[in-house]
Amino acid sequence: MDVGDTLTYLDHAATTPMRPEALEAMLPFLTERFANPSGSHRFARSVRQAVDEARDVVAEVIGCDPGEVVFTGCGTESDNAAIVGTQRRHGGIAVCAAAEHHAVLHAVEHGGGRVVAVDAAGRIDLDALRSTLDDEREHRGAAHVSIVSVMAVNNEVGSINPVAEVADIVREHAPHALVHTDAVQAACWIDLRTLAPHVQLLALSAHKFGGPKGVGVLMARSGTVLEPLLQGGGQERDRRSGTHNVAGIVAMAEALRLTDRERVADNLRIEQLRNRLVDTLCASLDDVIETVPRDAKVAGSAHVCIAGIESESLLYLLDEADICASAASACASGAMEPSHVLAAMGVDKRFSLGALRMSLGFTTTEADVDRAAAVIIDAVHRLRGVPR
Ligand code: PLP
Repeated sequence: MDVGDTLTYLDHAATTPMRPEALEAMLPFLTERFANPSGSHRFARSVRQAVDEARDVVAEVIGCDPGEVVFTGCGTESDNAAIVGTQRRHGGIAVCAAAEHHAVLHAVEHGGGRVVAVDAAGRIDLDALRSTLDDEREHRGAAHVSIVSVMAVNNEVGSINPVAEVADIVREHAPHALVHTDAVQAACWIDLRTLAPHVQLLALSAHKFGGPKGVGVLMARSGTVLEPLLQGGGQERDRRSGTHNVAGIVAMAEALRLTDRERVADNLRIEQLRNRLVDTLCASLDDVIETVPRDAKVAGSAHVCIAGIESESLLYLLDEADICASAASACASGAMEPSHVLAAMGVDKRFSLGALRMSLGFTTTEADVDRAAAVIIDAVHRLRGVPR
């Protein structure tokens, strides 16, 4: 089944379609330009040049030096390379917020780190961060926290974290710690050049901005020394061994270049579509809340919580009508439980069990949101047993 056929795709936070230009850019490296860029012959050197050009593009969009761009296999790897790599090299513990993606949360928890509360909008609680860092400094020494990780944009509810403020707090309360931001959900909505100056480490994933799956970036400031996750051939200046995914890297750079070029216009257009969708749902259905206020989240995020229904049943009806959305609630011990993000935000269970994550992106049209709104309204009426 194809998007644009009968499918209404409102799941851009899960993955985006590839930008056609990115697909076109990668094809030669899957066919005639197949050389290994680490080779020494002319054929290999020409492919290495393509990787270097991609690195220059990525560096320009992030606002860093090309030497600070490390190509990885995905966003999860970039997050793990930052957190696990810091702990293995510098010891100590990592600190993150409770609403982080599991790629960060599980890595932090696995290393015995501390998890800080979030506010009702899913943003890190800055006072809780201060007191956690002070507590660690007082009881275990000034250098015990080796890294603090805060996501730029939440993947589930779309809230935007104050990364610059977090970095200021870390400088003051844990001056030895590195700051990492998981910017995987940020590239479409936020100018990365405004984030990068505040952090030593920043993670991206190509498939969230029109690139292919299975390729990512870790921006690591020069002088930031990590223990690599992979031992091997020493590619990426010993920071990430493994033969380069050349086609993926080239396509990712092209997708990021286009995303950056179109970001301002896309934000304006998509914000209007998002507002139209959510306004229609709130006007037509009782007991619907917009999970995060609009001024606290990115334009593509349309997360709502609907009382009196279960997300699973709603998603089933949406799926039957060829509408792709998600919920991120998990079935624990036979009972529906809200996601860790909604639980950390303290959303009332009456609402959080009816969570619906709709995420818009560069391919979303007015027809998509109007169709989705009509189907959702009808489905909620059916689930609530409202006579039609
Ligand atoms: N971080 C965030 C915020 C994400 O949304 C995701 C993917 O959903 C990841 C990390 C993991 O990225 P990848 O799918 O490339 O491993």
